[in-house]
Amino acid sequence: MPMTAPVPPPAEDSHPAPPVPPSALRLRLDRTALADNWRALDRLSGTARAGAAVKADAYGLGIREAGPVLRDSGCRDFFVAHWNEVPPLMQSVAAQHVSVLHGPMNDADVAFARATGVRPVLNSLDQAGRWLRSGGGVCDLMVDSGINRLGLPMSALGDPAIAALDIECCLSHLSSADEDTPINAQQLRRFDAIRIAVPARRYSLANSAGIALGAAYHADLTRPGLSLYGGIPRPELAAHIRQVAYPEAAIMQTRLLEEGDAVGYNATYLAPSPMRVGVVALGYADGYLRCWSGTGGFHWHGRALPVIGRVSMDMTVVDLTGAPECREGDWLSLDYDPVAAAQASGLSQYELFTLLGRRFDRAALA
Ligand SMILES: *Cc1c(COP(=O)(O)O)cnc(C)c1O
Repeated sequence: MPMTAPVPPPAEDSHPAPPVPPSALRLRLDRTALADNWRALDRLSGTARAGAAVKADAYGLGIREAGPVLRDSGCRDFFVAHWNEVPPLMQSVAAQHVSVLHGPMNDADVAFARATGVRPVLNSLDQAGRWLRSGGGVCDLMVDSGINRLGLPMSALGDPAIAALDIECCLSHLSSADEDTPINAQQLRRFDAIRIAVPARRYSLANSAGIALGAAYHADLTRPGLSLYGGIPRPELAAHIRQVAYPEAAIMQTRLLEEGDAVGYNATYLAPSPMRVGVVALGYADGYLRCWSGTGGFHWHGRALPVIGRVSMDMTVVDLTGAPECREGDWLSLDYDPVAAAQASGLSQYELFTLLGRRFDRAALA
């Protein structure tokens, strides 16, 4: 006997769900900057074409918004990590080339690849065998050239299972392209050997930072992620890449503090004199982590509004001294230039994007 009661059918609905009111958080996306960033990275890829890493919901920006912009700019090759990232991508762009980096772990993954026509990125002899046993067909292959994360070890390149594959794109991934280190040249040498050993229609090595390492790293297809969304992993890219994501939050309440009043959890901020503050609808549950407590900042019509006290789950308090006209309901822009914010917070630019939560309305920049 089942221990749990069957789920009742949905009630006959006499009250249709009301429309959800707009969020007090919005993520303004500069679509032109996103399109320009893809075109710049495609141009910088020389004779190679640029694809797009759109895993983790386009690095937190939102695949529904970013996908069509990338496709309309000319992007044809899309990379996700998980199989469950395929449907939202396909719903926003009916992409011709979708590769799933984590590869087929089991028969359900293989069946899903076959049903959707997306390509599994095979990462091991095990995965290659699983794919071949299911009937084979076009796939990608990731070969490890030194990052020791996912990927077939080079020692397995001669295996008959690899020779039996129909490989569209043979990939490898750089561990340290954002640094000047001999590791890059070493991985490139190994990649050149991989290209000789593995027959494939296309080869791909470079992520965003790898594109800036020069033509030798470009092969046929580059796989930028971070820089599409405004991240700058190497200074050479700074002149080509523009900020895309502008988080904004509304002031829910303003209050007047007396000298000595404490703000937020654990009373870490004491008002040095009477002052006006604003309670903003953004907290660590939205990716604005506690490292910004007392150090972060917002802007309102060019006026700087420093964060005071602890960032809490759903709220942050700002000092409104610099903006006496600022009112409840007004929108503040979060200081979130990726390079400056990474430096200020100690978070990586990758984290700054992918942490952005699901409570933002994602909207085009006016
Ligand atoms: C995430 C990822 C990329 C994109 O890297 P960026 O540094 O964001 O440009 C490219 N290739 C693989 C295999 C990845 O996992």
